[in-house]
Parts: sequence; structure tokens; C-alpha cells
Amino acid sequence: MLATTKPTNFIRQIIDQDLSAGKHDVIVTRFPPEPNGYLHIGHAKSIWLNFGIADDYNGKCTLRFDDTNPVKEQAEFVTAIEQDVRWLGYQWERTAHASDYFDQLHGFAVELIEKGLAYVDSLTAEKIREYRGTLTEPGKDSPYRSRSSDENREMFAKMRAGEFADGEHVLRAKIDMASPNINLRDPVIYRIRHHHHQRTDNAWCIYPMYDFTHGLSDAIEGVTHSLCTLEFEDHRALYDWLLDNTSAPCHPQQIEFSRLNLNYTVMSKRMLTQLVENGNVQGWDDPRMPTICGLRRRGFTPASVRNFIATVGITKRDNVIEMGVLENSIREDLELIAPRVMAVLRPLKVVIENYPEGEYEQIEAPNYPRDASMGTRTITLGREIYIEQDDFMEHPPDKFFRLGPGREVRLRYGFVIRCTEVIKNQSGEVMELRCQYDPDTRRGRPPEGRKVKGIIHWVSANHCVEAEVRLYDRLFSEANPQADKGRDFKQALNPGSLNILSHSKLEASLASPEPDARYQFERLGYFYADKNSGAGNLIYNRIVTLRDTWARIAG
Ligand code: ATP
Ligand code: MG
Repeated sequence: MLATTKPTNFIRQIIDQDLSAGKHDVIVTRFPPEPNGYLHIGHAKSIWLNFGIADDYNGKCTLRFDDTNPVKEQAEFVTAIEQDVRWLGYQWERTAHASDYFDQLHGFAVELIEKGLAYVDSLTAEKIREYRGTLTEPGKDSPYRSRSSDENREMFAKMRAGEFADGEHVLRAKIDMASPNINLRDPVIYRIRHHHHQRTDNAWCIYPMYDFTHGLSDAIEGVTHSLCTLEFEDHRALYDWLLDNTSAPCHPQQIEFSRLNLNYTVMSKRMLTQLVENGNVQGWDDPRMPTICGLRRRGFTPASVRNFIATVGITKRDNVIEMGVLENSIREDLELIAPRVMAVLRPLKVVIENYPEGEYEQIEAPNYPRDASMGTRTITLGREIYIEQDDFMEHPPDKFFRLGPGREVRLRYGFVIRCTEVIKNQSGEVMELRCQYDPDTRRGRPPEGRKVKGIIHWVSANHCVEAEVRLYDRLFSEANPQADKGRDFKQALNPGSLNILSHSKLEASLASPEPDARYQFERLGYFYADKNSGAGNLIYNRIVTLRDTWARIAG
């Protein structure tokens, strides 16, 4: 069990009632992705809900691939989805595929035909749409609606045997063409698709439709509560009709909850695919993507994603969650666990002229200043160091407590230095600083008689390692990239969402990071080694800044 306190929400209340009424002994849920892309943070909500309930109620949750559209689905996505669910911290007994049930589903279709509750329609797709009617007008019956059971059975057998081309016929449930719920106006339940399927190969050339497959697969698996997003609310009547009119072994209860929406990003697979194909990002696991693999590569922890979903909660109200809430969840997690280290992102060389050449001092720096049990590491201080360009100003205002000509600053865990000379190149850029250190202030002893307000981070020029550091920011610069319907959502992309610094200097301990370790670079943010990082080619991704830099902009 992953959660320390059990969450509560309206779905768990329903389950509690069902259990106390003796309706079920074991709670069974499922997470049913279509293997047509990578999972995003919205899916994490459904995963957290379904697997979390199974964990807390000692029940079962199946990972079931809804693989009924062979044209869009790939085995590659199946593997990636399994990896993502596992990474989020969940286990399951059995991976199921809707395609495992193709025989049974076919049997249910034949059963409906025999009961006079399904018919083969030979109208074109366009005509079917036209006959369906609208929200204000009832539909009208297809001329094929009155085919006899025998004829339907024969036609359906021929569809299955491959005697017809794609689109020539479909099988429809015979419900009510005048129903106010359009989903009940004789929905298509089987279509012809002469297409190779990633699991069933060429065994089938007819495939069941989503709504037909979904509820019946739930029943086959003994699902007790089928949890889905609000857009399926209007499909519930069909879900129930199919279970009531077939010999489905049980009748799961469909319950809808609101989707997760996040601002400053997009979440549909269709749009994410566009970003990948258009080269706006470098693949599905680009650390700016809201995909699970993107968040993983960026350095989010599974716990931070789960905590984020728990914070958002499960309701029936549609809303949009602030990106800041997701960012805070990783900040809060790492604040407590990430070792502190020093790294200089935009280096400025400093030569401490009164420090002897070739001499160094070893400093035991705490890995986590507020918790001695996290140990120390040795850092080296010598005559030449790098500091952050931002920590120096040639003409600083009074309140600038960092370095300036003639000013003093303390080096974190080291001594106080005073800037005595500024070296510039021909175009007037500051290239290097010359400083003097004060031996009386070594090892953190208080400087006598003087106040030194600023403490800055640094690395030893002769001991640091060079790295590429990737500073990620929000992928879109507008809260709702889809707000303007007349415009391509990609116009709202944030041109500054990736800033690559190729000559950052890191303290030596970062040359070979602990596997899976996230670090706080002091004063800068939280960082994680990229998947392509290695000896001689160090790459660190910024997971998140120390504070929410967007809060001010949002007002
Ligand atoms: P997309 O619209 O991004 O393609 P989808 O709903 O088509 O997503 P599926 O693979 O069919 O993706 O979804 C698997 C499960 O995840 C479904 O039960 C679906 O309701 C749920 N899900 C998808 N997106 C969200 C979301 N944003 N919030 C909560 N649950 C979601
Ligand atoms: Mg879908």
C-alpha cells in the first residue's frame, strides 16, 4: 500500500456502501488504456484511482489494453504503458487485452442477433450518420433494420469470413432510433477492418467497437466498479443495455469522474503527437511533456505524481488545475530528501590572489544541513574557483548582498573574500575577478568586527566537472493554449521553455550521481541526471526551481 492515509471521495463512499450492503466480497477495478500512445499525467489520475482502490480494499485491479482498433495500436505502446504504471508504483496480477476476449465478444454479438437485438446494416457510414438524427430531431430506421435473425446471422458470418470489404456492412445494436440519448440510436457494435492486429495477427477482420467491448470486457473480468471520465456519462445507458441484454456474467457499475486538466500544457494524445511529429519537442519523453515518461526523465518522483493526484482529488466537477500545484508536489517531496550540492550554472572565474598556489583545503560539507544523519561529503577549496555570474555586479545597488568591486561575500562552507580587481575583455565583458581572502574567517568562523551578509555558492576550478545543464520551463506561455479556437495551439508554445547551458561547473561528487538521485543545487533548484548523461558527457535536467517563478506573473 502506497498511501499513508486513505483518501476519501464519492467513489470510495459508493464502494463502502456496496460492501456494507453485502453487494460484493472483493472489489475489482481496471485501468483500460488504448495502446495508441504514451500515458500522460491525466492517465495517472485514473491509475491512482483504480489501483489505489484495489490496494486499499484488498481488491484487484487489472491492466487491460483496449486494443480494438488495430490501425492505431502498437506493441511498443503496450510495453511503454506497462513500464509507466509500474514506475508509478503499482503492481497487477494479470495484463489483459480486450483482444483476449474476441471470441467471447463475438459470441455476445451473435447472442444479440439471435434475440433480434442486433442487425447487419448495409448503409454507408455517411448515410448512417445522416439517419442518426440530431439532438433535436429523432433518427430514422435504416431500411436494413428489419432483416430477419437468420439473414443477420448469415451476413455476420460472412463479414467475419472476410467476404466483404471495409465499410461495406456493420453490425448495429437494435435499440431505439428515437431515443433522446444518441448513443442508444442503434450504435454500431462491429465493423470490418482488414488490418493486421498486433496480437491476434490476421485471425479477425471484424473488430468490436469501443462501447461494446468495454462493458462486456468489464463483465468478463468480474469488475465491480468501472470508473471512467465524465464524457462517458451519456454512454452509461448503452453500457447497461449491453449487460442487460446479453448473458454477461455480471453487471459492473459504471461511475464517472472528472478528467484531469492542467494549465500551461495540453493533454490529448492527438495534440501531444503533433508536438512530437512537428519537432516542437524532442520526443514523447521530452522533459517538458506532460507524459509520464517525460516527467520521469525530468526527475519527478513517483511519489510526487501520486501526491499531486491525491491533492487534486476525485470529483464530478470539471476544472483546470494550476501547473504550480504539480510543480509544488515535486518541490515538497525533494525538499525533504534531496541532498544539497554546489554547482555553478553560468561560471565566472575568481582568483584568490593571497591563497597559496597548489594548496587546497578539504571541507566536510553536510549533505543536508538540517539533518546530520544524511552525512557529509568532501569539497575542495583553493586559489581558483568559479562563482555564478549573477553573484557579481560591477555597479551594484545598495541592497545587493553579493560581490562587487571592493565588496565582501562569504563562500558557502568557506571563508570571506573581497573583490579587488575586475578583469574585462576588449568588449568590456567581465572575464575574471581577483579577490583576497580573509584567513580569520576560515571554516565559517564569524568575521571579526564586520558584517558579511551574503553567502554564495562556488566550485573549485581544479576539482569541478563540466556539464550541460538543461533549464526547463513551462511548455506553453499561455495558461490555456487552446483558448483561441481559430488559432493553432502551437502558437502558444513558450519559446523559452528550454535553455541549454553547456559549460556549467559542478562539484566533483556530481560526476557520478547515485542512480536515481535528485539533487538540490544550492540556491538554484532541483536537478536530475538526464537519461543520456554519462561519464565525460554529463547532462543535468532542472526538475523545478526552488520557488514558483510563475506565481508573480499570475499576480
Ligand atoms: P486521450 O484523449 O489523451 O487520447 P484517452 O482517454 O483516449 O486519452 P485512453 O487510453 O483511452 O486515453 O484512456 C485510458 C483511461 O485513462 C480511460 O479510462 C480514461 O478515461 C483515462 N483518462 C484519460 N485521460 C484522462 C484525464 N485527463 N484524466 C483522467 N483520466 C483520464
Ligand atoms: Mg481514447
